[in-house]
Amino acid sequence: MARGISSTVGQIQPSATLSLKEEISSLEKKYGFNIIDLTAGQPDSGPTEDVLAALVEGGKLHKYGPVQGDAELREVLPAVLNREVGVKYDPQDIAITIGAKGAIDILMRVLLNPGDGVGIMSPFWVTYPESVKLAHGIPCFLESTAGLRPDIGRLPGELRSKNIRALLYSSPCNPSGIVYTMNELQAIAGIVKEQDIWVISDEIYRNFIFDGRTPASILQVEGMRDNTILVDGPSKRFGIPGWRLGVVAGPGEVIKAVTKLQGHTSSGASRPVQHAVCVAYTSQEARRASEEMRRRYQRNRDVFVKGLNEIDGFSCARPEGAFYAFPNAARFSGQRYEFDGSEYTVSGSVAFRTFLLRKAQVAGVEGAPFGMDGHIRFSLATKEEDCMTALASIRNAVRELR
Ligand code: PMP
Repeated sequence: MARGISSTVGQIQPSATLSLKEEISSLEKKYGFNIIDLTAGQPDSGPTEDVLAALVEGGKLHKYGPVQGDAELREVLPAVLNREVGVKYDPQDIAITIGAKGAIDILMRVLLNPGDGVGIMSPFWVTYPESVKLAHGIPCFLESTAGLRPDIGRLPGELRSKNIRALLYSSPCNPSGIVYTMNELQAIAGIVKEQDIWVISDEIYRNFIFDGRTPASILQVEGMRDNTILVDGPSKRFGIPGWRLGVVAGPGEVIKAVTKLQGHTSSGASRPVQHAVCVAYTSQEARRASEEMRRRYQRNRDVFVKGLNEIDGFSCARPEGAFYAFPNAARFSGQRYEFDGSEYTVSGSVAFRTFLLRKAQVAGVEGAPFGMDGHIRFSLATKEEDCMTALASIRNAVRELR
């Protein structure tokens, strides 16, 4: 057999943001553009001083720790989850992973046999289908309603027709910002129970919910604890995505399997980070900073989404949480524009993203890798002035489309 790379890796898509970054920097270099970057999947603020100090102090924890995660952090999380989700977990029901991304990856490898299907609610976070494929599973995409909500009516039929072992979604949703209602969750729970499959509820954006809505979780539906695996983490709420820490909570058999697998992959997560995250979850300062971010992102949502919907051709479902806007821009497809002496046609979301880069000098991520090619995702985790400037530039740019 010759040298080569596995066909499994050959099947997965490279991260959409990587090629985008290259396009941004080449346009900036060639044309002197100063592009407003609304692509970031992360908060614009970082951790508070007390949490930073705890990270340094945590440096003393320099030896290998428990694979499942340090007891200190696993003992703090049940109170947090009880307060926020209203569900009782013990420290042994929780495993600490390398980011919530690491949690999704490990869960797929732990739950799936080759060929098993995973129902993924559309639109979805770009990594979901790729993690399923890496675990030799089959991503099965479940369509949403026109308002980007879960299509409850079609769900039972779609799940039954495929060999589905788990259902996967994020609420608040990346990219749409939709927050599932209790009614929707109850309906989903009924279907999951009836078909006796897992549900993986990714609630990493729980702290960013707008308009005074209370976060609803499928775990609040009676009898769902046995079927549900909760994915959570501190990356977004404390502005520490670079620290790479994630949380899984769920039935004992799942947590044991996650720990067994992690024991031969990453081992336990970084211990200084675990110590600092433990401080973050109990810090008033960190909680205030998180609430301040939430308020700013809600204001950005108000300004940006209203402005976008006033531009003829865009139609944007109102985000109820997270920090993204995910408008439909399919009406611009087929239209033409001129740039640097050549004529171009907008066809599909990649072409639309390039159009915005060239003519508005605004960067968003195309909708295709999120499962909706007619859309584009803008991150609003940024300064309000940037949202306003971007909006004005987008408005001017689309006027030039013919
Ligand atoms: N789930 C969702 C829905 C996300 O948007 C992200 C990050 N973009 C993650 C999980 C992964 O988070 P982490 O940085 O903790 O790996």
